[in-house]
Amino acid sequence: MPFPLASCAAPDDATDPLASREHPEPEHAYRSPFERDRARIIHSRAFRRLAGKTQVFSAGGAAGEPSDHFRSRLTHTMEVAQIARTVATTLGLNHDLTEALALVHDIGHPPFGHAGERALDACLREHGLRFDHNLHALRIVEHFELRYAAFRGLNLTFAVREGIIKHSHDYTVAEQPQLAPYLLDQQPPLEAQLIDLADEIAYLTADLDDGMEAGLLDLPNMRANLPLFERFYAPMAHAHTDAGEKLIFNEALKRMLNALVGDLLEATVTHARAAGVETLAAVRSAGHRLVAFSPDMERERLAAKQYLYTHLYGSEPLKRDHATAETVVRDLFHAWVQNPGLLPPSYSIRIAGFSGNERAPRVIADYIAGMTDNFILAQHASRSRSF
Ligand code: MG
Repeated sequence: MPFPLASCAAPDDATDPLASREHPEPEHAYRSPFERDRARIIHSRAFRRLAGKTQVFSAGGAAGEPSDHFRSRLTHTMEVAQIARTVATTLGLNHDLTEALALVHDIGHPPFGHAGERALDACLREHGLRFDHNLHALRIVEHFELRYAAFRGLNLTFAVREGIIKHSHDYTVAEQPQLAPYLLDQQPPLEAQLIDLADEIAYLTADLDDGMEAGLLDLPNMRANLPLFERFYAPMAHAHTDAGEKLIFNEALKRMLNALVGDLLEATVTHARAAGVETLAAVRSAGHRLVAFSPDMERERLAAKQYLYTHLYGSEPLKRDHATAETVVRDLFHAWVQNPGLLPPSYSIRIAGFSGNERAPRVIADYIAGMTDNFILAQHASRSRSF
C-alpha cells in the first residue's frame, strides 16, 4: 500500500494556517515549519530533562536492583517517535509533523512517572486546581522555555500546539475555555491521532521488556495469560531451540510490536475508506478518530494493558516506589505552600505579583513538574528536617 492516506496529510506549507505561529517569523531558507519545530523541541531544556524522569522504573532501582537498562522518559519518547514516524511514512502522512508531536508528547510529565502526576494532581485539588500533563506541556512550550529575545516560549506552529493538547484527550471549551482557539469541536489531523497509539505500542512492549528485566514479570505466566505475546513466542521457541530464553523473548516481543503496527496501519486505512475520508478537512469533520486498531487487536491491546496493570504496575515493589513518589511530591508541595519564600526567586517572583498574580499552588506545581527524579529527591533530602 503505497502512501494510502497521502491526500489527508498535513501540508508542508509555511503559508498554511497549520504552520502559523503566534509571533510571525520569516520562512526558513531550507527547513519546513515542522522541521523547525522538531529542532526547537529537541533543543529545549524540558526535552533534555526527560533523560532524568522515570518512565516506569526509576534508575535508582527502588523497585529492585539499580539498573541503567530501563527506559527513561527520554528513551521512551524516542521509541514513540520512531514508531510514529514509520506509521506516518507508510500512510503518506507528514512525518516531520508526526516526529515533532512524538518528541513533545511527554514533555509535560512530572518526575516519578504517573505516580508523580497523580500526587501533583491530588495536591492541586486541595486548592481547587488540577494537574494535567498535556496542558502543562502547552504551558512549557508557550511560556516556560526562554530561548528568544522577542517572546517567551518556543513559538511552535499551530499544528504542534493543537497536537499537544489533542493527541490523547478530547477537551471541551466548557471545561477549558482557554483552549477555544484549538478547534475543540474538530478532530485533530491524522498525524496527531496516531501519536496516542504509537505511545501505546511503545509502552506495552517496552514495559513487558523492562518488567522481565526487573524480575517482576514471569515468562511462563506471561505465555499462559497473554495470547498476543504467546502467539509469537511459541514459534520462536520452536525455531530457535538452542537460543537462550531472553533472546527468544526479544524475538517474540519485536514481532508483537510489528503486529501491532501492521494492524494499526491496515485498520486505519480501512476506517478512512469506510468513512469516505480523502482530505484533511474530512478527517477534521469525521466525528471520531480514524487512527485505530482493528476490533480484534483492540481487544488484545486492552488485555495486554490489563495484564501489565495486574502483574507489573500493581506489583508490591512498584507500589512501594509509587508511595515514595507521593510522599516526596506531597512533602515538598506543602512545605512551599506554607512558605513560598523558600522557592527560588524566579518562582517566588511570580507569586509576589511582579509578572501577574498567579496563585502559589500553581507556581509550585510548575516548579515541581519540571524537576527530574534526582533533583526532587535531593530537594526532599535537603529539606527533610522541616517536614
Ligand atoms: Mg508516552
